[in-house]
Amino acid sequence: MDLAENWVGCRVRVPFGRQQKVGMVVAVIPGTDHAPNLKAIIQRIDAKPLLTAELWQNLHWLARYYQRPLGEVLAAALPARLREGESLPELAEWRYALSETGRSNRLSLRTGTRPRRMADLLAQRDHADETLLAEHDDAWRATLRGLLRRGLVTGTRQAWTLEALLDRYAEPELSARRGRLNAAQNLALQAILDRFDQFSPLLLDGVTGSGKTEVYLHAIDACLQRGQQVLVLVPEIGLTPQTLRRFRQHLPVPVHVLHSGLNDTERLHAWAAMSSGEGRVLIGTRSAVLVPLPQAGLIVIDEEHDASYKQQEGWRYHARDVALLRARSLNIPVLMGSATPSMETLQAARAGRYGLIALKQRAVATHATRVQVLDVRGQTLVHGLSESALQAIDGALQRGEQALVFRNRRGFAPVLLCHDCGWRGQCSHCDAALTLHGRRTLICHHCGHRETAPTACPSCGGLALQPQGAGTERLELGLAARFPDAPLVRIDRETTQHRDAVEKHLVRLGTGAGILVGTQMLAKGHDLSRLSVVVVASIDEGLFSTDFRAAERLAQLLIQVSGRAGRAHTRGEVLLQTHLPEHPLLHTLLNGGYAAFANSELQAREAAGLPPFAALALLRHECAQEADLQSFENAAYAVLHARAKSHPGCRVHAPLPAPMARRQGRWRRQILLSAPTRAVLQSLLSDLGGDLFKLPSARKVRWSLDVDPLDLY
Ligand code: ADP
Ligand code: ZN
Ligand code: ZN
Repeated sequence: MDLAENWVGCRVRVPFGRQQKVGMVVAVIPGTDHAPNLKAIIQRIDAKPLLTAELWQNLHWLARYYQRPLGEVLAAALPARLREGESLPELAEWRYALSETGRSNRLSLRTGTRPRRMADLLAQRDHADETLLAEHDDAWRATLRGLLRRGLVTGTRQAWTLEALLDRYAEPELSARRGRLNAAQNLALQAILDRFDQFSPLLLDGVTGSGKTEVYLHAIDACLQRGQQVLVLVPEIGLTPQTLRRFRQHLPVPVHVLHSGLNDTERLHAWAAMSSGEGRVLIGTRSAVLVPLPQAGLIVIDEEHDASYKQQEGWRYHARDVALLRARSLNIPVLMGSATPSMETLQAARAGRYGLIALKQRAVATHATRVQVLDVRGQTLVHGLSESALQAIDGALQRGEQALVFRNRRGFAPVLLCHDCGWRGQCSHCDAALTLHGRRTLICHHCGHRETAPTACPSCGGLALQPQGAGTERLELGLAARFPDAPLVRIDRETTQHRDAVEKHLVRLGTGAGILVGTQMLAKGHDLSRLSVVVVASIDEGLFSTDFRAAERLAQLLIQVSGRAGRAHTRGEVLLQTHLPEHPLLHTLLNGGYAAFANSELQAREAAGLPPFAALALLRHECAQEADLQSFENAAYAVLHARAKSHPGCRVHAPLPAPMARRQGRWRRQILLSAPTRAVLQSLLSDLGGDLFKLPSARKVRWSLDVDPLDLY
């Protein structure tokens, strides 16, 4: 066998039972060549390690931190095709131009067809790269193949040497395209430039529309001109075609993309481009943080507070934390932007561990947004909306503007209630109410169970079944009845099965008067420049939540949704319907804004010993058999309790039912661990080793250990 270093990090094919599997060599132990119980490797797939040393080491560290098997963590960092043993694809970036034949025959291609549109696009410029083609034609590969086959287009390999890139940046056309940053943005840019070549996180705290994205783009320019790569993380719903277009228009290099809507080939290509160093810019959702970056210069995290950065099953990593870990090893800055920073990031900035720059004003001057609380107690609501709210919407329509009605519940009504006896539609498998969809279907949003809504009360036989409250579907119905002539679109999980569905709905809405109804999918991302009125139909259930992060989530959501009003040149108005007009959260938020909210929230967290002033881990376990669940819990608690004794400040809290005590027919319980710092929590967890796995009762239940849980559900 070769020297160990040559093998470690390479994929190999190995026998596994009667099959073959692809594995990764994690260590070579000398002297085991002829050990009798070991099987031989069938085939070596990679000539050199697949991951960079930095990523390799950090993945090992992360497996320990999150208490996950190393194999699972390594696998998460590889695209499916590589996990299956496929070799790395050839990595040239190509650019395409019309050939002689193409130029003379372009007009004979039928107008309006894809080939003709692509040929027209190419006729307008010297050449186009793949990302540009992809922007104009969603089936560009097929179109291009056809044109290449007919000799109408030629492709040449293009290498992004630093010289080529600097030449590109020197072109006057490029600098003409770039707007000037304002003074605050320049300060932010300077702060990030000062941080190049060192690990130094910087929080860009700026309201929606203050020009954070513009700062990212200029920082990326600077990084590219240093010959380095940039990773841009965006939340799931932040990666819209509009966002991508903006990056592609600004940056002179191909912008690679990684998100869950891609197929395996596309994912492999983006990964391979970055891994080879050929790709310069990657913009992606959570898992993009696991891509090798051999020439990393900067990581940008947009909307750093967003919950979609946390993986919620299997290996429950937080992409922001992983990004910070990697940036530390890579010695590069991390630029984090948000209008509503997480308590973790704010506290780190306040303690001086992160830099902080605030963008206080919108980049394009607008009128101030007026926020008004509508006390709806005792008022008649028509399909969830008060008369004042309806009038405000009417006003927007009269002025030729758009109104957004926000409600974070899809379906017709969250509850079906018997007015005579109090019966409510409950899921038979979960501890949860069934949501009424349409007039006749009850659906459980937790397990997917469906049933036909009864016409008479199953309990008393009465006919007084009433839908309680309003989801997006009902709001849509009410609005359509009241404003029959206004264009109306609903945007929630049901109306947006396809990835570009939101975009299509918005096109349908147009740029004139109209109404949008939707869930938090509308809270950010899409440019809604005609929007002047935002009605928050209800967020009251959020005010009752007992989760320690509920207040933070709600404050962020309210600010983000309100930020949608009056983005452009229209005056913004936000109306918040509530039955709890005196709630302290609303009071603080409305009078002092997010900063005041954050102050009081951080104080409360500190007093209660909660993150960011403590570190938590949550053992969740569930099982259909209560007895099995209990015996695992007793054993696990004993193990945890015994271990915690030798770690000062660690607490193992008494086991409790989960907030939803039954789901999909399984009972659910949890044990919370808390420690004064992450370091102490880590020493406890590493001390625990595989002890929980070794419990005989662990095989009968589903359990998981969530390190740094985002919520305690
Ligand atoms: P954010 O990312 O903070 O929401 P954006 O970067 O999207 O803000 O900027 C909001 C709007 O203001 C965009 O339309 C952008 O083109 C514009 N903008 C940003 N910076 C400037 C500037 N310095 N001068 C003029 N317009 C700007
Ligand atoms: Zn009844
Ligand atoms: Zn259910």
